[in-house]
Amino acid sequence: MQKKDLLRSIPAINDFLKSEKAEKIINKYTRNRFLESLSSELDKIRNKILAKESGFDLIKEELAINQVLNKVEKELNSEEDQGIKKVINAGGIIVHTNLGRSVLAENALEKAISIAGEYSSLEFDLETGKRGYRYNRIKKLLKDLTGAESAVVVNNNAAAVMIVLKTVAEAKEVILARGEMVEIGGSFRVPEVMESSGAILKEVGSTNKVYLKDYLAAVNEKTGALLKVHTSNYRIQGFTHFVEAKEMVEAAHKHNLPVIEDLGSGILFDLSQYGLAYEPTVQEAVKAGIDILTFSGDKLLGGPQAGIIVGKEEYISEIEAHPLMRALRVDKMTLASLEETLKLYYNFEEAIEKIPTLNLITEKAEKVKLRAEKLLAQIKAPKNIELKINKSEAKVGGGAYPLSTFASYALVIDLGEKSAENFSYQLRQLKTPVIARIQNEKLVFDLKTVAERHLPELACAINKVLTEVF
Ligand SMILES: *Cc1c(COP(=O)(O)O)cnc(C)c1O
Repeated sequence: MQKKDLLRSIPAINDFLKSEKAEKIINKYTRNRFLESLSSELDKIRNKILAKESGFDLIKEELAINQVLNKVEKELNSEEDQGIKKVINAGGIIVHTNLGRSVLAENALEKAISIAGEYSSLEFDLETGKRGYRYNRIKKLLKDLTGAESAVVVNNNAAAVMIVLKTVAEAKEVILARGEMVEIGGSFRVPEVMESSGAILKEVGSTNKVYLKDYLAAVNEKTGALLKVHTSNYRIQGFTHFVEAKEMVEAAHKHNLPVIEDLGSGILFDLSQYGLAYEPTVQEAVKAGIDILTFSGDKLLGGPQAGIIVGKEEYISEIEAHPLMRALRVDKMTLASLEETLKLYYNFEEAIEKIPTLNLITEKAEKVKLRAEKLLAQIKAPKNIELKINKSEAKVGGGAYPLSTFASYALVIDLGEKSAENFSYQLRQLKTPVIARIQNEKLVFDLKTVAERHLPELACAINKVLTEVF
């Protein structure tokens, strides 16, 4: 068969439309999507023919109406399957920004769902029957828990930093230590956020040392605030000096200047008793007199994505009145789940038990080992591959506690000659994708971040890929 004959034998769109199968696909996916997918499929075949010099008979078979329609259907099916989906996190990083950070506590989840599915009192005062204020309840909770005079919530911590600087320091200088010029990842760089808020960055000190006198030397009539940024994802160790919050506050207040602190994660109780490095809690920062504090809702707090701002009433009310507040306000689902998460913090034991992020951080390694053993028992591996349970090190992640690791356990699969990369690719293509680690060419499934309820599904996934690969 000749190339031009083959090109001519490509069926016309009408030939496809006459088939019963096409009708079915159109009913499911609309005519437009069907035609779009069909013409892209035909283009592919046409290009394949044009690129070839022989073997046209093989391509001829691909041109059968039903063959083409099968491909179209498969393509549309997989398009349908795109979009955000649940994954199993076997990477051992508890607050993984790319995997959605914190998993919500059950009560927070249920509340978000019920509020999203019904009308609610979001901005309605049930007492007076008039318009209410969106942030009343959350303000009360945050004041109670942190000891701050007032509080408000925006879309995330980056937004919190932005609106705080814009409100109190637009077109003014903000003094920041060089050792605290943090880049969080994604595209959050403190200096750039400051710039876009209209504040002018005034750097002081050196990378490893800054003294109170450095801050004071930088104060002038253009100064709007002093800023502290938590070095969430790195530590400066060795020959260092930084200024305590309390000292900074005292000095700033003598000049009638506020101190702002971006705490990053923001913890409501000291986690050092669970083996993490000591970090000041939000309450301690409030007590030290910091005027405005910001932190994330979905890092160690364990709630939904949100930027929490707490501090002195005079500043918070100004922030609430800023026009940008409307652009950064949070949705009812966020508010509902954040309120429920915060309620758990009235009782720390309850918080640790019910907030998944805290639960994983405080969980003993022996419990993780039990999950690893349970998983291992369900894996059916061919003889030539080696399965082992190894000690592993899990991490907090999300740009928090960069130097702390938790003792954990992992199932390690040594695939021998087979490619670990390919195995991990296959795992990611499953209906519920599995995210594992590759270490020394071996597949590592850290059980720290795998809940008991995921074990059957994870075992199924591993078994499926094992049989496909071997
Ligand atoms: C994580 C982090 C941010 C950004 O918070 P998002 O909630 O991701 O917007 C800002 N500052 C610090 C110090 C952080 O650790």
